[in-house]
Amino acid sequence: MPRNIAKAHAKPNRTYSQFHQMLLGHKEGDHYALHHLYNVEATRVLLQKWGWSTEDIKIGCEHITIDVMKHSVYLHIPNKIVKRGETIKIKGLSRHVSKGDYVQVLIDKAKTKSDPYKLQLGDDWNRFIALGNTGDFYEVEMREDEATCTCHAYRGLMNAFEQDAIAYKILLKHPVTRGQLPDKHIFAVWKYLSAETFNQYQHVRQQRYDSFLEETNRHGLRLNQYAGYDEGEETGF
Ligand SMILES: [Zn+2]
Repeated sequence: MPRNIAKAHAKPNRTYSQFHQMLLGHKEGDHYALHHLYNVEATRVLLQKWGWSTEDIKIGCEHITIDVMKHSVYLHIPNKIVKRGETIKIKGLSRHVSKGDYVQVLIDKAKTKSDPYKLQLGDDWNRFIALGNTGDFYEVEMREDEATCTCHAYRGLMNAFEQDAIAYKILLKHPVTRGQLPDKHIFAVWKYLSAETFNQYQHVRQQRYDSFLEETNRHGLRLNQYAGYDEGEETGF
């Protein structure tokens, strides 16, 4: 996604809501919520869901205003535009959209892009290595309260939800994520573990931990036997 996509809807001649101005107030590289959540790409997906034709979406997105308010997102497309001195009627739009719709688009996108075949086991039971497209790799760590990833997008998502408390609340209450940041590498691990939801992730993670402990104990016992003593003798020292 090009870096200027967050700016694509920052029409200077429009007065944005206070919340939007606050999001824009950060320096350009720090427009995390606008970049990750409320971008034109995501809006395109929503218009598609609402039955807009490809052509209407294409023209509409050239003239759209996406105003992120505290509790919702206001979308506006004028119903006529001036092109080469001529006034043309286009499909207009003026509506408030739930932030949940944008969070859902983000989750769906990350799930679609997640690929368990690009994973390798890490050096510990709770770690995976995710291979990027350009030979780079990231580490996913399965923690009990969430999984984390060392990639750039994960950090961006974290900052995006930090900038938007309402969106974060939605992510927390979401039956699939329960607050898990929707990073494609983490969803790849979910797929690998056959987990569809965060609750399933926690369950499978626990099973993995238990069998790791079991394996370690068995291994430890074997080593003791090789050393020529069993547990009974050991306590006698
Ligand atoms: Zn990642």
